[in-house]
Amino acid sequence: MDHLPVFFNVKDKKIIVIGGSTAAARKTDLALRAHAHVTLFADALDDEFIDINRHENFTHHAREIELGDLENCVLVYGAAEDETIDKRVYDLAKQARVPVNIPDNIPLCDFITPAILDRSPIVVGISSGGASPILARAIKAQLETLIPASFGKLAGFVGSFRDEVMAKLTDGRDRLRFWERAVEGTAADLLLAGDETRAREQLMAELDAAAAATDAPRMGEVYLVGAGPGDPDLLTFRALRLMQRADVVLYDRLIGDDVMNLVRRDAERIYVGKLPQNHIVPQEEISQMMARLALDGKRVLRLKGGDPFIFGRGGEEIEVLASKGIPFQVVPGITAAAGAAAYGGIPLTHRDHAQACIFVTGHGKNGKVDLDWKALLQPSQTVAIYMGLSQLPSLMSEFMGHGADPGLPAAVVEHATRPNQRVVTGTLGTLATRVAEAGIDGPSIIIIGTVVTLRERLSWFNPDKAISTITK
Ligand code: SAH
Repeated sequence: MDHLPVFFNVKDKKIIVIGGSTAAARKTDLALRAHAHVTLFADALDDEFIDINRHENFTHHAREIELGDLENCVLVYGAAEDETIDKRVYDLAKQARVPVNIPDNIPLCDFITPAILDRSPIVVGISSGGASPILARAIKAQLETLIPASFGKLAGFVGSFRDEVMAKLTDGRDRLRFWERAVEGTAADLLLAGDETRAREQLMAELDAAAAATDAPRMGEVYLVGAGPGDPDLLTFRALRLMQRADVVLYDRLIGDDVMNLVRRDAERIYVGKLPQNHIVPQEEISQMMARLALDGKRVLRLKGGDPFIFGRGGEEIEVLASKGIPFQVVPGITAAAGAAAYGGIPLTHRDHAQACIFVTGHGKNGKVDLDWKALLQPSQTVAIYMGLSQLPSLMSEFMGHGADPGLPAAVVEHATRPNQRVVTGTLGTLATRVAEAGIDGPSIIIIGTVVTLRERLSWFNPDKAISTITK
């Protein structure tokens, strides 16, 4: 992030604009809408200023700006669209220590103006940091269709209850919950349907009920959420909604920054990560921590990589909650094997190759892998191995030792679905060496079966990162 997003209060403050054409008119209009006083310097004004010229907070000077004009000024827009004038304005503003913006000239900008979606009092600013104002405007256009015009009205409506809510609900968390219900519940529906009187009655009734219930012991809830293999686009809508609602989040190393950035900003973050053979927080402790936080009234988000019920110990974590009667919900996620298959161009089943797929863990106890080889060696079956990378050579030898064809295609997909995804393909006989040569050491799925050959035709994601193709 190259710029700090802030909303600046300019009511009754002086803003200076230089220029008399479209760009200057836009900035002037914006500043006037934010209730600033605008002083503009330009020889002449375009037609676009006809309305602006009548505005009581607008003053026009048909002369050059001088240093003295910048006194008490809070912001300057140099929109003369003339390089010499812009530079002069920039230098004057620097001298007077007033933040300055020269549109479309990032080096001469102390601040930039985002594309704006105005549903006052809700205002959304979208910035591309100057990299692509067109893209910012395209995003704005999409948001225009997503955020109903009536949301401004809703914000004003709930805002009118602020003081009363502050007085009746003294605990911050009670207030948060009340507001969440207010903007998503019946009162909001009534208001958006145009019935402000009933909306008001409904919200008052809800506020009184909330105030009466504040003494009751509060019970929180646990959301056990699958965050998918990495690409944040693969989160479910429900996952995102609960991530935005949580008071505290417990996460581990499989959860990338892209996903963590989507968790509510002010949620408390607790790292409970584990490294192989190096358990930082014991499982039992994580379960107890979640129970404690929920009993304290918190909404606890337990984010798990992939799917919580596939090699995620999600079941164990919530058993403790179930035994204590703590409410919880489980949100499925895209499991790593599914992510690796899709983004690696390797279908796990295919009518010509595999009618079944089996997911196993290669994480052996005391360095020894103990798997049901007979079950794994079934024909027309794909095997997806989780947590098997560190045992890859012995896994491959065991497969061959139990009668598998050394020429059977196999692949490793590392960091599946992430921008640094790498795929190594080979055979049972060659894969381990190739993976070692490529220096693969991130989270990886091993896929074994003839479906791996399909990648040659179906690879679509970062194909240039493919490290090798199958050669028998
Ligand atoms: N619950 C998770 C699995 C957790 S076990 C799920 O459903 O995906 C951890 C193992 O998952 C890792 O050792 C690795 O084998 C696999 N894994 C997790 N994320 C991965 C990714 N982005 N790419 C490849 N494998 C991944």
